[in-house]
Amino acid sequence: IKATVMDGVNVEQELTEAPEVSAAKTAFEKLQNDRKTLPVYPYRDELLQAVNDHQVLVIVGETGSGKTTQIPQYLHEAGYTARGKIGCTQPRRVAAMSVAARVSQEMGVKLGHEVGYSIRFEDCTSEKTVLKYMTDGMLLREFLGEPDLASYSVVMVDEAHERTLSTDILFGLVKDIARFRPDLKLLISSATLDAEKFSDYFDSAPIFKIPGRRFPVEIHYTKAPEADYLDAAIVTALQIHVTQPPGDGDILVFLTGQEEIETAEEILKHRTRGLGTKIAELIICPIYANLPTELQAKIFEPTPEGARKVVLATNIAETSLTIDGIKYVIDPGFVKMKSYNPRTGMESLLVTPISKASANQRAGRSGRTGPGKCFRLYTAYNYYNDLDDNTIPEIQRTNLANVVLSLKSLGINDLLNFDFMDPPPSEALLKALELLYALSALNKHGELTKVGRRMAEFPLDPMLSKMIVASDKYKCSDEIISIAAMLSIGNSIFYRPKDKQVHADNARLNFHMGNVGDHIALLKVYSSWKETNFSTQWCYENYIQVRSMKRARDIRDQLEGLLERVEIELISNSNDLDAIKKAITSGFFPNSAKLQKNGSYRTVKHPQTVHIHPSSGLAQVLPRWVVYHELVLTTKEYMRQVTELKPEWLVEIAPHYYQLKDVEDTASKKMPRGEGRASKD
Ligand code: ADP
Ligand code: MG
Repeated sequence: IKATVMDGVNVEQELTEAPEVSAAKTAFEKLQNDRKTLPVYPYRDELLQAVNDHQVLVIVGETGSGKTTQIPQYLHEAGYTARGKIGCTQPRRVAAMSVAARVSQEMGVKLGHEVGYSIRFEDCTSEKTVLKYMTDGMLLREFLGEPDLASYSVVMVDEAHERTLSTDILFGLVKDIARFRPDLKLLISSATLDAEKFSDYFDSAPIFKIPGRRFPVEIHYTKAPEADYLDAAIVTALQIHVTQPPGDGDILVFLTGQEEIETAEEILKHRTRGLGTKIAELIICPIYANLPTELQAKIFEPTPEGARKVVLATNIAETSLTIDGIKYVIDPGFVKMKSYNPRTGMESLLVTPISKASANQRAGRSGRTGPGKCFRLYTAYNYYNDLDDNTIPEIQRTNLANVVLSLKSLGINDLLNFDFMDPPPSEALLKALELLYALSALNKHGELTKVGRRMAEFPLDPMLSKMIVASDKYKCSDEIISIAAMLSIGNSIFYRPKDKQVHADNARLNFHMGNVGDHIALLKVYSSWKETNFSTQWCYENYIQVRSMKRARDIRDQLEGLLERVEIELISNSNDLDAIKKAITSGFFPNSAKLQKNGSYRTVKHPQTVHIHPSSGLAQVLPRWVVYHELVLTTKEYMRQVTELKPEWLVEIAPHYYQLKDVEDTASKKMPRGEGRASKD
């Protein structure tokens, strides 16, 4: 390998330098050579000319052609950063981090210096940063502090085809500022050929096409639908591995989420152990949004000779990240997607069939460096008749409260006339306004209130921000930001190894003593850890993930800083659990539910049957009234993170939302069957 790397380098000079220096130098030179082999490279000058000639440019090119990593560098080399930063948005945080890391290597600078990234709760940039990769949500937040994005010379809205909610809102905002900032360059880049729509939206902006190189991909379908796609995916991967020579290419499997990926990883490890030594090594590389940073780089490491890599990825590998060397794609045909019911205001994550466009992107991942094969774990009939052509943009299937609050704080009041590329359902907009009004973030006229202004400072969902703002009144801001930080981590705090489940469950129950509810239990976990001076050993002993806790501490520190900004004093009131629960209720009162005779719950405002998630400390307790953090739909509609509340709090805290009759405790009376609303009482 060394010899080929050193090809074309002055070897004599190399030999006089220290070996590490020359190794670093050759690696750097190899990176420079790699850059020149990317499909975008021959179009460098033409592209720079087009950016020079037009304020807005739509750029289209296959995944892996070098749009994200190269174009910002070209613009930097051409001097654009002398006038301001280049910002490049990504819909996914892992992509922002990983691409920034790559570009910093290519430029030979330290990550966080000239090249940095910014994702929620993690700012890896400095004064020096001129190429800034960030999530689309972060750029949206930057508008709040810098409405004309004055510090930027170029904004590249990348992965535009993903049509995330934040990207769609950014479209409207950048289109608007481009009008009064003629010096700002706007690039809209996308991996799909459906670029006309972007061009039309941006007043017929020219489209720059980077011709792709794509090798033929052989598509295989299953003869009959698969009952268990996870198992089918594993079997297919193993079949490829044992029948095809190693070195002939790696495998990419699309799964729906972290849990599924971890299960697949475990099964694969188990089954390859039984294969014996004649079969080549199979290196398993998971990649999903919450994968710790240290492990993210692993998927990009070249596969050692004689081995094969199998990448188990979420949709992140569909277009956001390109992994070189993939020859086989296994596509079960599912993705985890948000769905939202504007009538009830309820949001769930659901495993849903992908669109044809997605299926084709996935297949394309196998034909980047040579002919590839894609195994679709569904029938050809399914593909042609059941899959939608395109994925519905997120704006049409999500809760808009967060975005509406941001837009309101940007002074954009007339949301019905905002320049949406595809407008959200008006029902969903109204629902968002209604919720923000209920939370007192907006007044009757739909204008931002002082509470709303404070809420908007927090990069959190409105209910969480409201909980924090309300903690001022209940004098427990210290506890509430710990709870908010812990809730932001998701469900990766407790650790439950297969061989020690009983111990792990006992450790977890310790924090639930007194049936305090899940929010207070999270608070107890955090404060106990803090009392041990953030001990790692303590985490091990209590089956708690250190990594998650460190992240929670990080988030908490940032929330503490934000408290100061909105002039809320940091006050602790740890003995008054009711005060803490009232602060929680102040944010989450729309998520209240009441116990039914059969042990299920009924949400109070928009009656729907829900259940306490089995992982909750209250799952066996079944309090009469509860407030929950979120709903997840698996086999049933489950409430996750649940706390008991007193029904009179609802009327006390949200008199404009609940009336006495909503919270009358009728449990002693006979409950009518079916729709509680239609009953005689
Ligand atoms: P596009 O944005 O057009 O999809 P990219 O600029 O992301 O293309 O990728 C160009 C090349 O850079 C690809 O060959 C990819 O494998 C490589 N690359 C991107 N990110 C990384 C990374 N973090 N580590 C190693 N290689 C990377
Ligand atoms: Mg890209």
